[in-house]
Amino acid sequence: MTIEKTSTKYEKPIPLKTPDNQPYWDAADNHELAIQCCGDCQQAIHPPGPACPHCGSPTLEWMNYGNDITGEIYSFVMTYVPMLPGFQHDLPTIIAQVAVDQVEGVQITANIINAKPEDIAIGKAVKMTWLDITEDRALPQWELIG
Ligand SMILES: [Zn+2]
Repeated sequence: MTIEKTSTKYEKPIPLKTPDNQPYWDAADNHELAIQCCGDCQQAIHPPGPACPHCGSPTLEWMNYGNDITGEIYSFVMTYVPMLPGFQHDLPTIIAQVAVDQVEGVQITANIINAKPEDIAIGKAVKMTWLDITEDRALPQWELIG
């Protein structure tokens, strides 16, 4: 017997896991934030890569910051034209670079969801939330606080 799925297909691109970023996306799938950090100079690294951009060390570690993640909008763009397939259903798309409170020196770029364009401004507080996009993948997104 086959079970027919009734959920709507996710139309947007799904981020690929690579050897460098897999811990970030694995944590996101569990609705948690993991950030790469340098085993030598101890600085946080985002986006993750094969070596520390601060000191060049290839000794990298991962820190899990859990699911209570907040930040401040550092910059943002709004697009009224879908830049990628699937985004035509949620225009304008608001994409923000957010300075993360819990991780010194790290900014994470993601969509701000459930917000009116006129409520978005640099300096506003946001919290991370995770959208379940398939059975086993979830995407970090930002939401305004309050
Ligand atoms: Zn380093």
